[in-house]
Amino acid sequence: MTIKNKLRAGISFLFLLALLCCGLSIFYLTRLSGDAKNILKDNYKTVQYMKNIAVAIDAGTGSLNKEQVNLIEDNLVKQEHNVTERGEQRLTDSLRSKYEQLKLQQNNPEKTALLRNDIRHLLYGIMQLNMSAIDRKNAVATATANKATLLVAFVGSFLFLVAFSFVVNFPGYIANPIKELTERIKEVSKRNYHQQLDFKSNDEFGELGQAFNNMTRKLDEYEHSNLASILFEKKRIETIINSMHDAIIGLDEKSFIIFANKVASILIGLPEQSLTGKYAPDIALENDLLRNLLVNDQHKMKIYADNRESYYTKEVFPVSSNEKVIGNVIILKNITEYQQLNDAKTNFIATISHELKTPISSIKMSLKLLEDNRIGEVNTEQRQLLENIDEDARRLLQITGELLDMAQVETGKLQLNFGSTHPKNIVDYAVKALKTTADQKQVALNIKCDESLPDVRADLDKTTWVLINLLTNAIKYSHEKSAVDLIVKKYKTDEIEFSVQDHGQGIDQKYLSRIFDRYFKVPGSSTEQTGTGLGLAIAKDFIEAQAGKIGVESELGEGSRFYFTLKRFGNGLV
Ligand code: ADP
Repeated sequence: MTIKNKLRAGISFLFLLALLCCGLSIFYLTRLSGDAKNILKDNYKTVQYMKNIAVAIDAGTGSLNKEQVNLIEDNLVKQEHNVTERGEQRLTDSLRSKYEQLKLQQNNPEKTALLRNDIRHLLYGIMQLNMSAIDRKNAVATATANKATLLVAFVGSFLFLVAFSFVVNFPGYIANPIKELTERIKEVSKRNYHQQLDFKSNDEFGELGQAFNNMTRKLDEYEHSNLASILFEKKRIETIINSMHDAIIGLDEKSFIIFANKVASILIGLPEQSLTGKYAPDIALENDLLRNLLVNDQHKMKIYADNRESYYTKEVFPVSSNEKVIGNVIILKNITEYQQLNDAKTNFIATISHELKTPISSIKMSLKLLEDNRIGEVNTEQRQLLENIDEDARRLLQITGELLDMAQVETGKLQLNFGSTHPKNIVDYAVKALKTTADQKQVALNIKCDESLPDVRADLDKTTWVLINLLTNAIKYSHEKSAVDLIVKKYKTDEIEFSVQDHGQGIDQKYLSRIFDRYFKVPGSSTEQTGTGLGLAIAKDFIEAQAGKIGVESELGEGSRFYFTLKRFGNGLV
């Protein structure tokens, strides 16, 4: 039954009970009032008539006067119409007869006295009869009243009990399920979807419970399917991250560690559980590597962990969502293998170039002897061949020299001899070394280097080598009969800039960023022109080792300007 119908039925039942109670009360009250009326009408009035007749009879002993006759006549007639009890009719008839006789015997006092006596007896008899009827009817009315009181009390009590139980139970019947529903909804709002309502009734609450249970079941299924796929994805990503040889550390925007893979925990020297969820700067206080990772911009790192030395490059990737940075991922890429191969290559190059230097020098020496005609005359053709061999030997020597320099830089064995030098010295050395080459190509060297410039703090040999390299390239890539400008000037307050400007073929913009990379040669350059592709890379290392900067500006077809800066001497650096 629906709640609506239950409510209807309950209230109707209460209403019916109340109605029944009222009906019963009205019924018995009516009955009692009927009884009272009957007593009044039937018996009390008869007693009254008899009393009136008795008064008239007892008013005198002689003959009846007119007034007495009228009183008796009137009351007797009324009595004759008000006979209600058994035997009353007979007594009333006798009274009529005695009265009629009394009227006829008015002149006989003895007879009159006897008749009066008889009448009194009859009056008394009728009164007695009605009095007994009154008593009897009164008893019946009292019994009816008692019965009515009992019945009304019983129905009233029953009504009260029903109403009381209704009042006690009904609010709970409506409120309890709502309360329980509210509790479950609160749990659901906390994502606790294992909520079921046990409403077994067949009413609206039963339907509500079923609908709620379906909803939570669906939510639970959805949550679990989502959770399961998220957990699966998480597991997969964790497995991938853990199987990597690189160290990976994830930080949130407040620098708390979200995850650290196995390699990261080995390198840091702390188990994964001691890292995850911790505030990274707190751990960094006592952990050098983490401190370096968080603070240093250092790209390449040598780390001793797990009983061996390994090389890593650090890369930091900001993680953002909706254009807001929500954390960082630090990746330490393991480049040990590459580093070992590179070291082997560098050592190999260093050894080979060192070993080649001696035989090449000896070739040059022998050529010198041949050219000087010390061991006999050489004809023109032989001289030409000797010159070619000499040029090749020179190039070989230059290449081996560059390779050796590069190996020195890479192995960290680069030795710099700093000193105070006037820029003019560097310029003079370089120009002297290239005079012939420039003359051969008819390239004019325009030099601008003021005597008034301050001394620079530099390694004279290495810096001269760099300038020679830049000038060699400038001449090499210049057109014949053009000019190369070598300008030395003050740059900022405490720096001197050396710049070499040519008006040759220039360099395409897209190659400019790679021009200082090792072994890089601009594609399309003729093999005659290009060398090892190491010159500019070594020049960069030499200049940066002296705290200077090196750069290039170029326009294809217009020429290039290579420049480097050095610190002036005496600004605190020794
Ligand atoms: P290389 O020994 O090949 O000259 P470098 O490192 O000195 O090696 O130069 C690298 C490359 O840069 C060269 O191969 C050349 O293509 C380009 N380059 C260097 N200087 C100039 C210049 N002044 N004009 C045009 N190209 C240049």
